Amino acid sequence: MVSYKEIGLVNTREMFAKAVAGGYAIPAFNFNNMEQLQAIIQAAAETKSPVILQVSKGARNYANQTLLRYMAEGAVEYAKELGWEHPQIVLHLDHGDSFETCKSCVDMGFSSVMIDASALPYEENIALTKKVVDYAHQFDVTVEAELGVLAGVEDEVSAAESHYTKPEEVIDFASRTGCDSLAISIGTSHGAYKFTPEQCTRDPKTGRLVPPPLAFDVLHEIEKKLPGFPIVLHGSSSVPQEYVDEINALGGKLPDAVGIPEEQLREASKSAVCKINIDSDSRLAMTAAIRRVFHDKPGEFDPRKYLGPARDEMKKLYKHKIVNVLGSDGKAE
Ligand SMILES: [Zn+2]
Repeated sequence: MVSYKEIGLVNTREMFAKAVAGGYAIPAFNFNNMEQLQAIIQAAAETKSPVILQVSKGARNYANQTLLRYMAEGAVEYAKELGWEHPQIVLHLDHGDSFETCKSCVDMGFSSVMIDASALPYEENIALTKKVVDYAHQFDVTVEAELGVLAGVEDEVSAAESHYTKPEEVIDFASRTGCDSLAISIGTSHGAYKFTPEQCTRDPKTGRLVPPPLAFDVLHEIEKKLPGFPIVLHGSSSVPQEYVDEINALGGKLPDAVGIPEEQLREASKSAVCKINIDSDSRLAMTAAIRRVFHDKPGEFDPRKYLGPARDEMKKLYKHKIVNVLGSDGKAE
């Protein structure tokens, strides 16, 4: 049993309360390798932004849960080395699918876990979420739960259709489970293909897909029912078209990849939405940068010569999200 407090991590409680009150959101970036983690920590340290490092099931399978947890411990020390005196870093389990997975993360030093029982019937979602909350809270680990179903594919989480969160259920759910934050479904979606062309309109000038707007009415209903309660948005990459275009121009094949427009995420950040999950965008930044190197220098075979530029590109993206979309810069001096 290792406490996250011993390794310099923090849970989400105070961070979320400040974000809700201050009208900004905390970035939750997924990581599964060293370059991503370096880019996240450099971006957070340079902007003094609180940050959530997320570990998904896919990341645990790819990199190993224990190794990722020690990388997060290293990240705290690295942040201090970069001159960030009081780093506010959360290590969070993304989409925990069972009590056992959540427990193992709590026991090895995660400061926050998500239990995603949203695919289960309502009462079963409550029962499993409460079981995780009861365990995690003994160690002051915060718990994110989910109500409603997001469409799309994220690692091993997938659903064909979305079901918006029902505002009439949120008070009952939050009070009976004791969860610390709630992921809701209001039209965001996992992956780089958030909407089919049929769900979108097309900009006549550029020919690009324009996705349907988020259901802000549902969000506002939920905020009214649970004033000040921390709300989380999953599947909130914006799928920057310059990366998609570059990848496609350099031999890639990502037709009609489309995400959530940044203006809408900026709008959501000002509400009770205090955690925004971004994964696909850093994958696109990394892929575009690597393709660029391979195109310009076909003789390159030193991984540092293409992973280095990929790291720089991801860092640029993370800083942009922090400063221009979520507004969390300067909130962790
Ligand atoms: Zn998610």
